[in-house]
Amino acid sequence: MSALFKLAAFAGAALVALGAQAQTFPAEGKSITLIVPFSAGGPTDKVARDLAEALRKPLGGASVVIDNAAGAGSTIGTGKAFRATPDGYTLLVTHIGMATTPALYRKLPYQVEEFEYLGLINEVPMVVVAKPGLAPNNYKELTDWIAQNKGKINLANAGLGSASHLCGLMFQKALQAEMTTVPYKGTAPAITDLIGGQVDLMCDQTTNTTSQVEAKKIKAYAVTTPQRLSTPAVYKDLPTLDEAGIKGFNVSIWHGLYAPKGTPAAVLKTLNDALKAALKDPEFIKKQQGLGAVVVTDERMEPAAHKKFVASEIAKWGPVIKAAGQYAD
Ligand code: ASP
Repeated sequence: MSALFKLAAFAGAALVALGAQAQTFPAEGKSITLIVPFSAGGPTDKVARDLAEALRKPLGGASVVIDNAAGAGSTIGTGKAFRATPDGYTLLVTHIGMATTPALYRKLPYQVEEFEYLGLINEVPMVVVAKPGLAPNNYKELTDWIAQNKGKINLANAGLGSASHLCGLMFQKALQAEMTTVPYKGTAPAITDLIGGQVDLMCDQTTNTTSQVEAKKIKAYAVTTPQRLSTPAVYKDLPTLDEAGIKGFNVSIWHGLYAPKGTPAAVLKTLNDALKAALKDPEFIKKQQGLGAVVVTDERMEPAAHKKFVASEIAKWGPVIKAAGQYAD
């Protein structure tokens, strides 16, 4: 056999093998893991668990499981996903941290632009919430209380680079408030401490706060979006921070799905198709709406537009974070 013929035969066999792999993805009996870089029970975890359920059918009944790799404001879990085998069986669900951590950390265990982008999942407003029994009864009273308690207020967040950190940072800066920041591995443990009164204030996604506000376990004061929220009903009388005096305040969180770089193109296509089917699943949409999240329906469901959007968010938040003088090593 000539060397050229051998090479052609080898290339042909490799192509057949690649094709077979793509056709059988996900292989029977193999589960897909969604890495969530925050603790269980928080907003990112909730979105990922609903998505896991919605992905099952379009992925031919494959089981989709969650791996909570929490800590360091999402950077530990995101790094784990970055280093995972690029075969489509380990994916990442994360939020705006993908765009804020490059400005917040001097060193990161991943490069944001080196992921495979699979599509944006949803957008979620945030709410300023407080421990139960906090004296202020509305946003105006809250700002007076903050001004009178300089240096005495504990503000919880899910770690440097988390959405709650970003929102808290902007909020403190706007009010020129001096608060002690208390970082957690996710907002689930932070909200537990807020309910218990160990911390005073927090800014968190409606996906996490809604049931607690409805049950009156925490108090809500204002929303972070430019428009008031008409749903869930429990927020409809809350002012936006913009109308309440912090002009231009707009922090809206989003979640996306990613794969490690090098995942075969055919596998990426299967995953993107499954994601798009999940985003149109009425059950998934209903669950997300009930939590105050808006499921993405525009071109950002596609990898290229998702990547472009994240790049625009990096450009938007980088200078804001740098101006606030926040860094971690
Ligand atoms: N809501 C958290 C944050 O502030 C993250 C989480 O626990 O999902 O970023």
